[in-house]
Amino acid sequence: MNSKAVAAVAPNGLSAATSEPVGPDTEQDIDLLLAFLNTIDAETGTDVLRETEQWQQWCLRHTGQASVDTAAAREIRDLMRDSISRGSVESTAIPPGTAEWPVRIHLEEGVPVASGSDALGAVLAAAFRIATVGRWHRIKICPATNCLWAFYDRSRNRSRTWCSMRVCGNREKARSWRERHTAQ
Ligand SMILES: [Zn+2]
Repeated sequence: MNSKAVAAVAPNGLSAATSEPVGPDTEQDIDLLLAFLNTIDAETGTDVLRETEQWQQWCLRHTGQASVDTAAAREIRDLMRDSISRGSVESTAIPPGTAEWPVRIHLEEGVPVASGSDALGAVLAAAFRIATVGRWHRIKICPATNCLWAFYDRSRNRSRTWCSMRVCGNREKARSWRERHTAQ
């Protein structure tokens, strides 16, 4: 049984909008969501979702479940990545093919919990819980065009831009410095 898929939405989590730390259940959700968002890797030019077989392996490794729909997974991942990159708060229409997401809500000892009926559902349930506890805006995508890595911003004031300040931040600083100085 996959504990990630059935972790309860903690009622007191609803008010925990700002500071860290997060509980172990949320950590698991964050890990799963980030792994899903990072199935595409700009640095190596690879995409797990390009091959059904690779995606199936990913699903088993990360959720212990299978997934029926590679196209829907790709669509949902790209939509989430787009919206996170833009930092957009506008509502986005759910693509026609993915109107029925494999997530169900049921009562566990009287408490409503979201769980996935397959691997994609498990990812979506995790993403839903992250949003429900007010932490969605901490999921970010590194803006360095050769990186685009999804990460979780743990800074107190949510100020982190780069996946790693040491690598991407410095690379970007060096690039803009060069651009400023070669433009003259
Ligand atoms: Zn980066």
